[in-house]
Amino acid sequence: MEVVKKVEEVRARVDKEKRKGRVIGFVPTMGYLHQGHISLIKRAKQESDFVVVSIFVNPTQFGKNEDYDRYPRDIERDIKILNEEKVDLVFVPEVKEIYPEGFNTWVYVEKYCDILEGKFRPNHFKGVCTVVLKLLNIVEPDKSYFGWKDAQQLIIIKKMVDDLNIKSEIIGCETIREEDGLACSSRNIYLSDKDRKKALCLYKALERIKELVEKEKVIDCKKLIAEGKKIIESEKGVKLDYLEIVRISDLSVVEKIEKGVIVLGAIKIKDVRLIDNLRFE
Ligand code: AMP
Repeated sequence: MEVVKKVEEVRARVDKEKRKGRVIGFVPTMGYLHQGHISLIKRAKQESDFVVVSIFVNPTQFGKNEDYDRYPRDIERDIKILNEEKVDLVFVPEVKEIYPEGFNTWVYVEKYCDILEGKFRPNHFKGVCTVVLKLLNIVEPDKSYFGWKDAQQLIIIKKMVDDLNIKSEIIGCETIREEDGLACSSRNIYLSDKDRKKALCLYKALERIKELVEKEKVIDCKKLIAEGKKIIESEKGVKLDYLEIVRISDLSVVEKIEKGVIVLGAIKIKDVRLIDNLRFE
């Protein structure tokens, strides 16, 4: 496994593999790897010949009062995991490699970026779109792997790639959860044992909505959201940012459960913000 820091090194290495006709798979991450990341890497290994993983905590997707400085980092541990997973190339750029002085071009998907997460994290998706487009231009992968855990991000990236005629295929991978149902996230380590238990209320609300739809045939979104909110709001110390049901195709709001909708939620416990979702496909 090679670990490189420079754009030109990635390009040279990937070019060499492409000339041999190899299929390039790409998994962008912010590091502090967990089972969710590993599942993306395993899928990439299955479906491509040469797997590139990037580790880059992207400063432009964090708001001023967010956790960029304290975002968990452990590059040595990450490299060990990637080695064990037999990843071919790891790209670990410094901030100035991605954003050299004078950098001034931004990518943004209108409407999609301002709602849901975007309402609570202004400019977050502008940072995400810009860095993902840059990484796709650097690696030029045949296939790129993203998690459904960050569903709005995945939907936005698919839209951007489609709108801008980018060649990489975007592949969504299922959310990996801890044994109790909490979605794996690098941010879970911020939670005390007590808060971690509280954090489960979002998953429980989603599971309750699933049960109401599947067993009790409730399809009215207002009713479903109200039931979900009850569970979250009864948990002391948890602040609900949003719980909404939208279409996967374009994030538009729906009134009744139908094929292709997704329930998206975000909660805050002290300073820790957690998201999760449930798809009806
Ligand atoms: P991050 O390092 O948080 O930026 O995540 C890198 C990639 O891993 C993104 O495509 C995420 O959606 C994905 N990911 C994060 N957590 C999970 C999870 N629990 N299950 C599946 N994919 C995940």
